Amino acid sequence: MTLTLNTDQMKAQMKAMMFHQPGVVHYESVPKPTPGPGEIIVKIGTALTCGTDLKCFKRGHPVLLKNFPSPFGHEFSGTVDATGEGVTQFQPGDRVVAANSAPCFDCFYCQKAQFNLCEQLDLLNGAYADFMKVPAQIVAVNTHKIPESLPFELAAFTEPLAVSLRGIEHCKIKPGDQVAVMGLGPIGLLMVRLAVMQGAIVTAYARNPLKRSLAETFGGANTVIDLSQYPNFFEDPTACLPKTLENRGFDVVIEAIGLPESWQAAVQLVRKGGLVNWFGGCPSGSQVQLDTRRIHYDEITLISLFHHTPAHVKHAVDLLSSGELNPSPLISERFAMPQLLEAFQLLEAGKAIKVALTPP
Ligand SMILES: [Zn+2]
Ligand SMILES: [Zn+2]
Repeated sequence: MTLTLNTDQMKAQMKAMMFHQPGVVHYESVPKPTPGPGEIIVKIGTALTCGTDLKCFKRGHPVLLKNFPSPFGHEFSGTVDATGEGVTQFQPGDRVVAANSAPCFDCFYCQKAQFNLCEQLDLLNGAYADFMKVPAQIVAVNTHKIPESLPFELAAFTEPLAVSLRGIEHCKIKPGDQVAVMGLGPIGLLMVRLAVMQGAIVTAYARNPLKRSLAETFGGANTVIDLSQYPNFFEDPTACLPKTLENRGFDVVIEAIGLPESWQAAVQLVRKGGLVNWFGGCPSGSQVQLDTRRIHYDEITLISLFHHTPAHVKHAVDLLSSGELNPSPLISERFAMPQLLEAFQLLEAGKAIKVALTPP
């Protein structure tokens, strides 16, 4: 039996990477989304890989991936393809970037201006596709036009940059501060760069040679420490403190690895009166051990930050649009969308920071 589709039905299909179960993602035909009231459809220009996507691919995700097969991917920018009823600020053809969530401005946390903790933060997924529907609240709050001069692949850094901007802001770095960044994934590298832009003297820690070299060339780190030379780093992190600190420790330590042992090491690396930013999320249920004497009598400030707010999203778009921050060195490869699994393999092997994927 042959199935015949009329032209309307043919037009209404698109290709997307769909997550079926951990380790199983297929590039398949799915219905092209249509915009409801307040929504827009974005024709994907570029989608970027993210460590979260790789984690989801390997283990699944209780919140991000719910109904299977599930759309996938959350860092993207592109062109408005269609707009729903009531959308006046965007027209088809506009080049845009959208964040992966938007606060409701109504719940308990939003009323306290803790927008990143909004109870309605539905995280958006589906950027590894030809088209993507952006929900009304994200269209209204967290979608921005981008200039012709900004390539899609750089605009797609808006989300990780927004998270990093909020992370760095809470570190309250002053010019001349000694700052450590542990872990140099995309977020760690952005944190190095942002700390340097704030006038900090930055020491970056990582094993991977690609990441270490980017900490210098992209980040502008003053010192880069090769952790493969310090196999006992997590037990005794102070063994490789830069000499200039005279054993005092850093003013600010930013942990961007997301392991309990590195959260603990971060506390050992900070000076009396300093601040530790636990920025890497650890596996849920994991625990850390801290010396209460150290925290109390040395007055260590401990903070841990999650996600972004609309102000940080806007700030990220502005920094990227003006070219003040150009993250293109963090794009290690450019692939066609169907090569997503190849991209994940490179990330897994530590041979890429980010891979830019383009619909064919
Ligand atoms: Zn991401
Ligand atoms: Zn809310």
